[in-house]
Amino acid sequence: MRISEIGEFGLIERLVRPPKRESLIVGIGDDAAVMGMTGNAVLTTDMLVEGDHFRTEWSTPRQIGRKAMASNVSDIAAMGGTPEFAFISIALREGIEVEFMDDLYAGMHDVADEYGIDIAGGDTTHGSVMVINIVIVGSIETPVLRSGASPGELICVTGPLGGSKAGLELLLAGKDGPTGAVAKHLDPGCRMDISSDIAAVANSMIDVSDGLASEVNHICDMSSVGAEVIAEWIPLSASTREAGEVLDQDPVGWALNGGEDFELVFTIHPDRLKEVEDRCTVVGRTLPSDEGRTLVVDGNRLPLTGGYDHFNE
Ligand code: ADP
Ligand code: MG
Repeated sequence: MRISEIGEFGLIERLVRPPKRESLIVGIGDDAAVMGMTGNAVLTTDMLVEGDHFRTEWSTPRQIGRKAMASNVSDIAAMGGTPEFAFISIALREGIEVEFMDDLYAGMHDVADEYGIDIAGGDTTHGSVMVINIVIVGSIETPVLRSGASPGELICVTGPLGGSKAGLELLLAGKDGPTGAVAKHLDPGCRMDISSDIAAVANSMIDVSDGLASEVNHICDMSSVGAEVIAEWIPLSASTREAGEVLDQDPVGWALNGGEDFELVFTIHPDRLKEVEDRCTVVGRTLPSDEGRTLVVDGNRLPLTGGYDHFNE
């Protein structure tokens, strides 16, 4: 069905769901939302542009909606906050139909419902490509910052890395490979499920949107520490390894320089590891800043940025 048949307001009405949170005093339908707030608020926003961040040939509308919401929730998870409200701004291009919007919002509601988030407003306009921008508002007690690390901590990740990039490479190459890798790219999820457990013990934290090397470097920059990451310790899923064989590429490179895995990377004092060791993998340690940032591959010490692919050739 064409959107013009029901109009912009008809469309919004169709996409709205009843709010779950009592603190939402005014939701969709007025000029602005009103919410009751106590304590500190945490806010994040992330934009997805058709062609650059998603393709309708590869993803179903539901997958696009899930990924858009999960990538935003991941930023709240990486701070140790609780997401509460989402605002969705969308530019629609010619040819987008009502059913596409139904599925897109079904995907956003999948993730919103999982974490108790109310969609409390947004904006709808037209564009030459589709753009989806989400704002999430939540609450936070003690934020876990990128700047909180000290030398002598363990660097940990909450799950396997490189899977999203593996899936992207398979799609770009047009090759059949393990379906798990492609699924990880199209529907990566996020680690809101364990974020508060990790936040309780971590000294610094960040989510993997650009790859492990980049995220560890952000922690080093902001905390003024050095770091050593052991390549052999980086967890990879079976489907990521299999995609590496299919494409004749090294999956460790995807873990380091890929991205959009939306796992959490954090640093923790060694004495506290036992509290979360069933939910994470140690991949390295922090060092005094003058010791620099190193990747250890088969006993060889390489710079943690840029050198890895070169070493592979
Ligand atoms: P205004 O013109 O006053 O800015 P709008 O007509 O844009 O208001 O929006 C009407 C209501 O619908 C508002 O509550 C707004 O937050 C909500 N809304 C608009 N677009 C969306 C969307 N894509 N998703 C969710 N809510 C939306
Ligand atoms: Mg208005």
